[in-house]
Amino acid sequence: MTAACLPAGPAARELPAEEDFDALVSAAIKADNTCSFAKCTVSVVTLGQLCPHCGHRYCLGHHLPEVHGCGERARAHARQRISREGVLYPGSGTKDRFLDPAKRAQLQRKLDKKLDELTGQRRSKRKEKGK
Ligand SMILES: [Zn+2]
Ligand SMILES: [Zn+2]
Repeated sequence: MTAACLPAGPAARELPAEEDFDALVSAAIKADNTCSFAKCTVSVVTLGQLCPHCGHRYCLGHHLPEVHGCGERARAHARQRISREGVLYPGSGTKDRFLDPAKRAQLQRKLDKKLDELTGQRRSKRKEKGK
């Protein structure tokens, strides 16, 4: 009587090929929507950052070039830009900000004062070291 319990018939059969394809597709989608950093599975659909150096998308924790292994490339890129433009801008995008001459003069004075202070400090430090 137990023989009747065996599962049989075409209903139990699945199409493995289709299943594989689905798995492949979902894996591909998943890979595209998660951080490209090895072992990181954070979604980058809404908060992903595209790295201009390697073209991969990373989560907010890994998008910095130094974090995911593009540090060298980023540094080379920055160096290239500096040599091309001839100026090192503090931070980024400051070159687009317009400074009116009065403000610039004020800044220059502030900078001079700061430099004076710094050189004075350095002198006194050197004196301390000398004893
Ligand atoms: Zn990168
Ligand atoms: Zn990540």
